[in-house]
Amino acid sequence: MTEQELGITTSKEHETGEWYAELVQKAGLADYAPMGGFIVTRPRGYAIWERLQNHLDSWFKDTGVQNAYFPMFIPESYLEKEKDIVEGFDPEVAWVTHGGYEELEERLAVRPTSESIITPFIAQWVRSHRDLPMRVNQWCSVVRWEATETKPFFRTKEFLWQEGHTAHHDAEDAREEMRTRLQQYERLYEDVLAMPALTGRKPEHDKFPGADTTTTVETLMPDGKSVQAATSHYLGTSFAEAYDVTYVDEDEEEQLAHTTSWGLSWRALGALFMTHSDDQGLVLPPTLAPTQVVIVPIWDEDSKEEVLEYAADVAVNLEDAGVRVELDDRDNRNPGFKYNEHELNGVPLRIEIGSYEVDDEELTLVHRPDGEEATVDREEAVETVEDHLDTIYAKLYAEAEQTLEGEIREAESREEILGTIGQHGGYVKCGWCGDEACEEPIKEAIAAEIVMVPREEDEEPIHDECAICGEDAEETAYFAKTY
Ligand SMILES: [Zn+2]
Repeated sequence: MTEQELGITTSKEHETGEWYAELVQKAGLADYAPMGGFIVTRPRGYAIWERLQNHLDSWFKDTGVQNAYFPMFIPESYLEKEKDIVEGFDPEVAWVTHGGYEELEERLAVRPTSESIITPFIAQWVRSHRDLPMRVNQWCSVVRWEATETKPFFRTKEFLWQEGHTAHHDAEDAREEMRTRLQQYERLYEDVLAMPALTGRKPEHDKFPGADTTTTVETLMPDGKSVQAATSHYLGTSFAEAYDVTYVDEDEEEQLAHTTSWGLSWRALGALFMTHSDDQGLVLPPTLAPTQVVIVPIWDEDSKEEVLEYAADVAVNLEDAGVRVELDDRDNRNPGFKYNEHELNGVPLRIEIGSYEVDDEELTLVHRPDGEEATVDREEAVETVEDHLDTIYAKLYAEAEQTLEGEIREAESREEILGTIGQHGGYVKCGWCGDEACEEPIKEAIAAEIVMVPREEDEEPIHDECAICGEDAEETAYFAKTY
């Protein structure tokens, strides 16, 4: 490949959609599968997903969650037991009707989500109050047959995610569970993905089917659209009723359990790639980068041996300290080509070592996000590199935070909502009466919707009147365009 073919040719700022599609393929994250709506996740993309998984999975396990695995098929009769789930997902369910040449007696749904197969088993496993709370999680893929354009990691018919399902003895405990998971998702964005996030509730008309309360993490993309980045639901007793999750309490009375579910998908990866990357390619926070540091030795015939030896020595030191480091000593590529390639692939920190560095016992460090350079002592390589990786994380976070802060605006009328989102994108918050009908004119005009309302139900709305109808405002609505 020539350097031209290697690099990205579109502009993030001016053609975000094309740029994203090019980024995903050229940075080796994913390819488009032969069937519309499906992607092939390539090793680099999958390695990032695995790192993300490890963070979240360890937090889940630290807080009482166990992993399990359930079948990908759900009998139709199981799906039908909870009517909201059926109505909510029916248009998007893929069905298996045949096994080999035989028509099945009962159709099987390819799971669009697994409440209807997991909850019946929680019902079997829970007997008494001593079995509660019960928490299971599975890492799997689900299928939702949406007829929209494929956008890797954002919109695909099959996607990877985790779904947690829990049962509790009362509403208070279940609500606490919902909040705990939401906080863990928020922490993942803030501490691992270098992305500030907003958290809130979904409005009544946009809750998860059958849920009492749906909470959400929302993140803002550079093109001004909001991404629903994770959700956590308190399901009340509707699923417990449908699937008979009961327990015997301390007074030997039978009680209905309260359940929750919560999920985060690989859309988190899409949001991550979209947020930090640039026209040179992928930008990753060191927390998730499969390779955190690449060492590029620069030599001529005379210096080759000592430069390579010095570089290899630095690589060993860093590796021993737990840094994910790669020594790029390929003979058949010049340093410029290597720089471009590692920039495209999102390696956060580059170390350049030539004969100057060897003579002065130094290293030259270059930050991926902004090209900042520093010359540092060889002696303190490990500590210095770790500091620089932290600095790179902080830079990415600060930039995303600055973007978000400038993109939350207020409006007091329908025209102002339309004008502000139309011109700038981002979030517009306003007073809202709580009626879905007031979302309609905004949706129709500019395809923006209420992505969330503040989480605390007793919080006063920012304005007294609904910006759309002028009636008394019940809460504050955040309008935005969405993915
Ligand atoms: Zn209204």
